[in-house]
Amino acid sequence: MKAVDILNNHNLKRTSCREGIIEVVMISRQALSENEIREQLVGNYDRTTFYRSFKTLEEHKIIHKIVVDNQCVKYALDNTITHKGEHAHFYCNTCDSVQCMDKVPIQKYQLPDGYSDIETEVLIKGTCSNCKQENN
Ligand SMILES: [Zn+2]
Ligand SMILES: [Zn+2]
Repeated sequence: MKAVDILNNHNLKRTSCREGIIEVVMISRQALSENEIREQLVGNYDRTTFYRSFKTLEEHKIIHKIVVDNQCVKYALDNTITHKGEHAHFYCNTCDSVQCMDKVPIQKYQLPDGYSDIETEVLIKGTCSNCKQENN
């Protein structure tokens, strides 16, 4: 799927900044922070343009947010676009990377009576395969 198709599906106007952001997130093998996305954009956009485009994509759930802590917030393409379903995220303590664990579905937790869940976020912390290899 191309960036322009994703925008069309959401009835969003096609702008080079929106397309650029989607493309950066789409190509990346790991989740990216707002700054990392901005740095990798080909076009030069001022902060306001970038920020507006970014917020629009987030509001339309084209990108999903992964919160590690208040210093580290990353974004990846949404599940509905990548057909991934609810999945866990992995944070590498060594290289600070965040990846979608597409093959690790989120399990249903049994809640006490009177509680109902809307969404469940799972963040696993440890060492990613890249960092593991470097240590061997
Ligand atoms: Zn790592
Ligand atoms: Zn994800």
